[in-house]
Amino acid sequence: MDASKVAWRRIAGDTASGELYQTSLITALLQGVYDGEMEFVEVMRHGDFGLGTFNGLDGEMVAAEGEFYQLHSDGTATPVRPDQKTPFAAVTHFVPQQELRVTATVSRNDLLPIIAWAAQKNLFTAVQIEGLFQEVRTRTVAKQTRPYPPLTEAAGDDAENIVRLTKGTLVGFLSPDYAQGFQVAGFHLHFLSEDKTVGGHMLDFIAQDVTIRISPIHRLHVELPTSVAFLNAEMNGSDVNRAIQQAEG
Ligand SMILES: [Zn+2]
Repeated sequence: MDASKVAWRRIAGDTASGELYQTSLITALLQGVYDGEMEFVEVMRHGDFGLGTFNGLDGEMVAAEGEFYQLHSDGTATPVRPDQKTPFAAVTHFVPQQELRVTATVSRNDLLPIIAWAAQKNLFTAVQIEGLFQEVRTRTVAKQTRPYPPLTEAAGDDAENIVRLTKGTLVGFLSPDYAQGFQVAGFHLHFLSEDKTVGGHMLDFIAQDVTIRISPIHRLHVELPTSVAFLNAEMNGSDVNRAIQQAEG
């Protein structure tokens, strides 16, 4: 598909561009800062849509339409309790502004460039992709024990799962190149099946009858941790790019 010839439908005015609410930094996760003081009850106040993880790196978080799920390393999903804590989460109140339907069978490499073309490259973009997934390859981090290893080592414990012929949704963000380390530059998407039983951090997919909805974000609200682990973490950025590509795939 030629991204420049795809017709997106505008579904909302441009006054509702959202705010990204984020706790901590991807760089802190890379350095093994896996315990946060932030409870999900607070995260939920600031968004109904987004992704993250849990203290101890105990699985991936995905939120859509106000429902928050914990995706476990065996690939299963359970609802998030408000008193669970997170070392990293990014959410927004999602008000989609542009929509695109694609009936053809498309892969990750077909679809993501079309979204990137429609998005503002120097803003953040909330991205939702609903469809029938012929195949989704996901990865889910496994709970870590202290002393915590850096994310590039912890990611070695990740469980990969392949889900086939499942309706579901990819939820997440497209972040600008300059945001590498603050977030994951480029696409960061988590999958949740329509029946809310399986999901994970998306590595690859093939889907059909896809509806994409996107919304630009130009306000950031970041809560930096004040834990000793965060305050003492070495985050000089020298290897951030390589480490994120290795850990976030
Ligand atoms: Zn992820």
